[in-house]
Amino acid sequence: MARYLLLGGAGFVASHLCDRLLTQGHRVTVLDNMVTGTPKNLAQLESHPDFELIQWDITQKFQDLDSVDGVLHMASPASPTDFVELSREILAVGSFGTWNAVEFAKSCGAWLMFSSTSEVYGDPLVHPQTEDYLGNVNCIGIRGVYDESKRFSESVIMANVRAGDLKASIFRIFNTYGPRMRANDGRAVPNFIDQALQGKPISVHGDGSQTRSFCYIDDLVDGILAIIEKRPLGPLNLGNPHEVSILKIAEMIKEYCESSSEIQFLPLPDDDPKRRCPDLRRTIEALGWQPKIELEKGLRKTVDFFKEP
Ligand code: UDP
Repeated sequence: MARYLLLGGAGFVASHLCDRLLTQGHRVTVLDNMVTGTPKNLAQLESHPDFELIQWDITQKFQDLDSVDGVLHMASPASPTDFVELSREILAVGSFGTWNAVEFAKSCGAWLMFSSTSEVYGDPLVHPQTEDYLGNVNCIGIRGVYDESKRFSESVIMANVRAGDLKASIFRIFNTYGPRMRANDGRAVPNFIDQALQGKPISVHGDGSQTRSFCYIDDLVDGILAIIEKRPLGPLNLGNPHEVSILKIAEMIKEYCESSSEIQFLPLPDDDPKRRCPDLRRTIEALGWQPKIELEKGLRKTVDFFKEP
């Protein structure tokens, strides 16, 4: 049994991780300011004896917390609408928030896990993306607020690791989807499902030939649990290497929703990456983990979640 402090635990990915850690018998305290997370994602854990939820903005110094074995930093707004509406909050959580997380981990001798992003590669010129690719990021563009906040966080963590007073793991999450995504967060999968179920036009940006590689949430959480068990420094890519065009995703979702929505082509947003696919060789070697869930199965489960009242 270990004690974990889970930052951003009311969000999409971290709330699934929280469920699994408690199932494994660990104790989890979540800090979340609910700017994009919601207590609803953790409602099933409310009366669990090993679970605690504290509403707290981690850009403020942590207060009155018991010592833990691991600090799991998964806090940040992360969707395209957030890049616009919460641009400064993203920069603050990826700088002051990460700084506070590191200082707290050091104060109790805890290991720190940091969830970074494939966005550190920007609009990549190398394909598929390996961890040692340095990226193609526009620091003054719309997405720059997220990309640079994660790049800065990685840098803060590595400086502390090199100084010898922090043990840490960094992983980079590629596109992930599944239950508990927000219907209105601007991402392709929830947008398309929401539109298809409501019979509204499905909004494909550009001609839809840009690609992404989508990982189902349960696979991703298995990967994160392997990181927690093995504690490699990383950075390691976590995602699914099955690459598909956005138009293909729109067509699949339309079919699984049995929708008669038309597909509507809209302008491509600035700095939208043209291709994205993780190179998993280093991850497979370090963790012995690989995603298993096929896109059709994962999308159908996600559609079922969005159909729930
Ligand atoms: N996208 C789209 N229609 C939408 C939302 C997104 O065509 O309603 C496109 C978006 O421009 C990008 C891709 O789908 O090319 C994936 O977008 P998402 O926001 O899900 O992930 P990210 O761009 O962060 O990888």
